[in-house]
Amino acid sequence: MTTNVPAIAAPAPHAPLERTTVPLRDVGEHDVLIEIKYAGICHSDIHQVRNGWGEGIFPMVPGHEIAGVVTRVGAGVTRHRVGDRVGVGCFVGSCGTCAQCRGGLEQFCAQGITATYNDRHADGEPTYGGYSTHIVVEEKHALRIPEGIALDEAAPLLCAGITLYSPLAHWKAGPGTKVAIVGLGGLGHVGVKIARELGAEVTVLSQSERKREDAFRLGADHYHATGDPETFTKLAGSFDLVISTVSAPLDLDAYLGLVRVDGVMVNVGAPEEPVSFDLSSLVGGRKTLAGSMIGGLAETQEMLDFCAERGIGAEIELITADQVNEAYERILASDVRYRFVIDAATI
Ligand code: NAP
Ligand code: ZN
Repeated sequence: MTTNVPAIAAPAPHAPLERTTVPLRDVGEHDVLIEIKYAGICHSDIHQVRNGWGEGIFPMVPGHEIAGVVTRVGAGVTRHRVGDRVGVGCFVGSCGTCAQCRGGLEQFCAQGITATYNDRHADGEPTYGGYSTHIVVEEKHALRIPEGIALDEAAPLLCAGITLYSPLAHWKAGPGTKVAIVGLGGLGHVGVKIARELGAEVTVLSQSERKREDAFRLGADHYHATGDPETFTKLAGSFDLVISTVSAPLDLDAYLGLVRVDGVMVNVGAPEEPVSFDLSSLVGGRKTLAGSMIGGLAETQEMLDFCAERGIGAEIELITADQVNEAYERILASDVRYRFVIDAATI
């Protein structure tokens, strides 16, 4: 017998989200049932409910920044117990046997990950995400949220946190390195906190002057408005690492100009249109342009432990189920301060 649970879904592309119910998967031998307490709203949710990355699966229940409590475990579960605080991020399936999965890079699984929503399980049934009261996942895809972080502030770490932690760690942000974070939204603000804790000198590059005070409060050392064309001449060749979190196409040549010789620009933003750039922006300085996508399971756990130890959580606006459509509009207007989190008790 299928159990249905309350959720918030987009019934069709571009349609406002509304209350509904969706089927909950049975708890298998290696699965855990999670009562969702909080779900962050990622800009990727908006791209997908608007078919920005291609045709989605509807009705769509977005949400891949999930924090909750285990309420049931399958007979073969060893990692979690009832009552454990756990999080689920962007994927709920990975083959576990390919080179990437064995190397802790499950996000690049050769078989393709099963995304937490807007995807299908092996049996063809759609996956439904975190804007809901419950989710069932295989135990390895549920990560431990240490006591040190409140669950509502932890939820956004499951996507925004790992998406910034992974490239910061991979490209060795730390004492003596100059890091620029482009875009102070959900991803960017967590990036500032993590980069600072790693010991890097952190610059925020934001479109306007509006977020200057917030950037310093979050831990930035410097702040520049990219709307001011002088920013790009003043800061030319300044950074070891530039990470763009911008959700729209960016003038890559301008930002590559900020990277020092042998430095790296990493793009984690996922705009809906392709971008082009002039290869001389790389050639004239042996620069690297790279991309990065979330992180593996072990690395996500490492990030959660690091954040708990360093007192890092997301800065959130807690909202009710009825405020989701309004929150989407504010995110699109770059007016999120700095992550909306849905209180699942209101769904
Ligand atoms: P967000 O909260 O909306 O933040 C994006 C920020 O980018 C905005 O707050 C704004 O900051 C800046 N921005 C927006 N439009 C801009 C424009 N036209 N020109 C310049 N700057 C602009 O979004 P998010 O949740 O952080 O996600 C950001 C992007 O990353 C999305 O495309 C999302 O899909 C993608 N993403 C990728 C991964 C991954 O694994 N690679 C994971 C999660 C999300 P300022 O006001 O400071 O300029
Ligand atoms: Zn996300």
